[in-house]
Amino acid sequence: MMQFYIMTLFPDMVMGGLHTSIIGRAVKNGLLSVEAVNIRDYAFNKHNSVDDYPYGGGAGMLMQAEPVYQAYEAVKEKLKTGKRPRLVYLSPQGKTFNQTMAEELAKEEELVLLCGHYEGIDERVLEEIVTDYVSVGDYVLTGGELPAMLMVDAIARLVPGVLHNDVSAEFESFQDNLLEYPQYSRPEVWHDKRVPEVLLSGHHANVEKWRRRQSVVRTAALRPDLLKKAELTEEERELAERISNYQSNGEFDENIYK
Ligand code: SAM
Repeated sequence: MMQFYIMTLFPDMVMGGLHTSIIGRAVKNGLLSVEAVNIRDYAFNKHNSVDDYPYGGGAGMLMQAEPVYQAYEAVKEKLKTGKRPRLVYLSPQGKTFNQTMAEELAKEEELVLLCGHYEGIDERVLEEIVTDYVSVGDYVLTGGELPAMLMVDAIARLVPGVLHNDVSAEFESFQDNLLEYPQYSRPEVWHDKRVPEVLLSGHHANVEKWRRRQSVVRTAALRPDLLKKAELTEEERELAERISNYQSNGEFDENIYK
């Protein structure tokens, strides 16, 4: 069972979001546990406050070191493995989260996520407890709660058994640095658009061939940066090149998208 601990000032926000749908079902089935630790419970003054003005001035408030540290000590008490936990601080200054990182983190038995709020957290406690700094992208949010939920979602679905059909976690976007092919469900015709014939043929090998080609085409058109890292056959490389030529000089080749 994989255990997530989320250190936050807004436990209701993360618990509400993560106890729904697939992740919620996995928690119910005992494949995962997600626990929020309320940093405010570790406030050390009579006003119950956990933030203060930053030294040196500047806008906004900063979360103080001590409540975060005490909350961390409380999390450590709960851990089963007794090891120093992997502790991720969600921060726009961190390494950008991606599927490879999700796969790596899914191997951990216990993972602690620390959500900042306001202008962030006193640097000194971060130096002592954080093992990984992770960003969800080059934009600034008001808090680390949405990023933490996003990470738990992406990691949890890789834990064996969480998706009913384990195969579905394997063949999808970013696998092998390719985006997923387009998919269709019933009806066969919708708004005059037909489902590609090959998908109705029942010919498994042809379906696979078509899907692979669509993946290459999509990735070349939408994410050429990913394609550089993908393992392609000679023929697929040529196809990708034709697409990038088309995109850069408008040399249209009508066979590209077939
Ligand atoms: N002053 C901080 C800075 O410039 O690095 C930003 C603080 S932000 C307003 C408040 C909190 O939101 C951060 O402590 C962090 O936990 C979270 N946060 C904001 N943007 C994020 C992002 N792109 N990825 C991960 N966490 C983010």
